[in-house]
Amino acid sequence: MYTLIDGRKIASEIRSELKCNISTFKQEHNREIGLAVVLVGDDPASQVYVRNKIKACEEVGIKSYAFYLPREVGQNELEEVVRSLADDGKIDGILVQLPLPDHIDSEKVLALIPTEKDVDGFIGENIGNLCLKKDCLVACTPNGIMEMLGRYGIDIKGKKAVVVGRSNIVGKPMALLLLNADATVTICHSKTADLKSECLKADILVAAIGKAKFITADMVKKGAVVVDVGTSRDADGKLCGDVDFENVKDKCSYITPVPGGVGPMTITMLMCNTYKAAVKRG
Ligand code: NAP
Repeated sequence: MYTLIDGRKIASEIRSELKCNISTFKQEHNREIGLAVVLVGDDPASQVYVRNKIKACEEVGIKSYAFYLPREVGQNELEEVVRSLADDGKIDGILVQLPLPDHIDSEKVLALIPTEKDVDGFIGENIGNLCLKKDCLVACTPNGIMEMLGRYGIDIKGKKAVVVGRSNIVGKPMALLLLNADATVTICHSKTADLKSECLKADILVAAIGKAKFITADMVKKGAVVVDVGTSRDADGKLCGDVDFENVKDKCSYITPVPGGVGPMTITMLMCNTYKAAVKRG
C-alpha cells in the first residue's frame, strides 16, 4: 500500500509556521519583508503564476511589489527596473517571471539580481554555492521536494536516486540536493540510452520532463518513492503529471499526486526563500 505525499497539507503547515516567523520578524526589525515580482507581457500562464505568488505573499504577511511591463519593453528599460530593485532597501527578494520575450537577453537581466535577493535561486552564484554545499537560496521546486521528503521521514542517505530531466531550474538543482543529502544520483535526459533500466534502479525517482504520463509502471521499481514534477494536460485537457499515476501508484512506497503534490510547495518555498533573505539582511 502506497502513501500519498500531500503537498497541499505540507504547504499549508509551512505557511502557518512562516506567518508566525514573519510576524515576529516584523516586530523585532520594525519593517516589512518585501518581494518584488516583475512580469513582462501578458502570457496568461505567467499572469496566473504571478497572481498566485502575490496571493501567497498576502497570506504569510510579505509585502509584494508587482511591476507589470509591456511585452515590447526594451532591454535597457527592463534592466533599469531590476537595477533599481537591487538597490531598494524595501526589497528582500526579486523575482523576474520567466520566460521573457525573445528580444530580451534573459541572462543579462537575471545577472542584475544580487545573489542575496535571488529568491528563485536561479543565478550562477547560488547554483555554485549549492554545488559547493554552502548555505544559499535554492530553486523553489527542488527545495520544496526535499522539504516534502523530509516531512514524510523518507530516508535519502545511501539511496539510489534517479532524476529524469536536467533543466537548470528543476533537474540539476534537484540532483545536487539529493547528492548533498548523500543519495547516489543519476541524472537522465532525452539522450539517455536506456531510460527504463536507469529508472528501474531508483529507490527515489523524480520525474521533471514535461510529458504527460511518460513514466509507466514498467519503469518503476517496487517500493520506490516517486516524485512527479510534471504539469501537462492529457488528451482530455486535464492537468496531469509525468507519471502514469493510476498504474504506477501500487508499485510505490510513496508517491506525489498531480495536482496537489509538488505544485503547492513551489510558491511556498518562494515565501520561505524571501523570509530567509530578509533574515540574512536583518
Ligand atoms: P524543461 O526545461 O523542458 O526540461 C525537461 C527535461 O526533460 C530536459 O532535461 C529534457 O532532456 C528531459 N526530457 C525531455 N524528453 C525526454 C525523454 N523522452 N526522455 C528523458 N528525458 C526527457 O522543463 P522543466 O522546466 O525542468 O520542467 C519539467 C516539468 O515540470 C514541466 O512539466 C513543468 O511544467 C513542470 N514544472 C512544475 C513545477 C511545479 O511547481 N509543479 C515547477 C517547475 C516545472 P534534454 O535536456 O535532453 O532536452
